[in-house]
Amino acid sequence: VLREENMTLKGNMRVFLRIRPPQHECETISYSIPDPNQRSLVVSQLNGKDLQKSFEYDKVFTPDCGNDSIFPEVAQLIHSAIDGYNVCILAYGQTGSGKTYTMLAQENSIMPKTAHYLFDVISSMKNSGWSFVIECQFLELYNETIQDLMVKEKQLTTNKGYDILHDEKSRITTIKNLTTRKFSSPAELVSALENAIKRRTMASTESNQVSSRSHAIFMIHINGSNTKTGAKTSSCLTLADLAGSERAMQSCESANRMRETGSINKSLSAFVNVIDALVPGNSAHIPYRNSKLTYLLKFFLGGSAKTLVLVNISPALAHKQETLSSLRFAEKVK
Ligand code: ADP
Ligand code: MG
Repeated sequence: VLREENMTLKGNMRVFLRIRPPQHECETISYSIPDPNQRSLVVSQLNGKDLQKSFEYDKVFTPDCGNDSIFPEVAQLIHSAIDGYNVCILAYGQTGSGKTYTMLAQENSIMPKTAHYLFDVISSMKNSGWSFVIECQFLELYNETIQDLMVKEKQLTTNKGYDILHDEKSRITTIKNLTTRKFSSPAELVSALENAIKRRTMASTESNQVSSRSHAIFMIHINGSNTKTGAKTSSCLTLADLAGSERAMQSCESANRMRETGSINKSLSAFVNVIDALVPGNSAHIPYRNSKLTYLLKFFLGGSAKTLVLVNISPALAHKQETLSSLRFAEKVK
């Protein structure tokens, strides 16, 4: 461990809440952030029962906070990944709440900024003898099927058999047949990322539908070695833009409704259940095996891994039910 860890005191799971700026919405939810450290959100009349309800998070980002104000809070996790911890940063929220904007749509979204920051940090470590190999994978999970977003060929291959393999000892996950590319500069990595994102859109004629139901998962494998001390590190930094949570919440509400809408996202509801089980005291058994997503992220949720869930909410009054569900889910993480 190269650096003092900031997260150990509080456990390894953190949650940030981000409120999207209103766009064309006429009626918006009313809320206040009474705490100067921006750790709590008070909302008014979201559920018809309580006039006011307060929710606690690790940090609340108001609509005036741009991507640039979020990244510094993420940067310490990139250091943890370089230090050898498995790290996962996930964007959660209903469709239209700002997940993709936060993770990858903008030049200053988390994924491209991470690419630059990572290479800055590792090049500053050269003097102390460290050198790193950076290898990446980018996949999409749709209907419990993995699609490779970094394949060189134009065509997507969906039937290759992307088995997920876990090495319990090293806590390293490999995905059989998935393209792995080595990068030595942030520019290369960002352009590969852009191509992969285009591929995600092309993969379907109803791209919006699919992207709201699929999880985009970017895995950065970091292998370091120090020529002076002989020390070695091996870890993975995973960044995920999850499917729209509207369906996961439906599935939590009632089993009947789940049967009705055949389109429930199995992986996302399993993710919510795993998070629930990870809350200390809730469950001894963590149901990782219930979906592809939770199985894939087994070494990133719980244990020594560091997880940051970025919960995005819409400011629209019309979405208040979904927003309330997201606020409750986010509170669970804490
Ligand atoms: P999601 O991925 O959750 O479905 P998007 O990221 O696509 O949502 O956001 C929905 C719309 O809102 C997009 O047009 C996006 O550009 C815009 N948007 C989201 N978050 C912000 C923000 N913080 N500032 C400005 N525009 C935003
Ligand atoms: Mg999106």
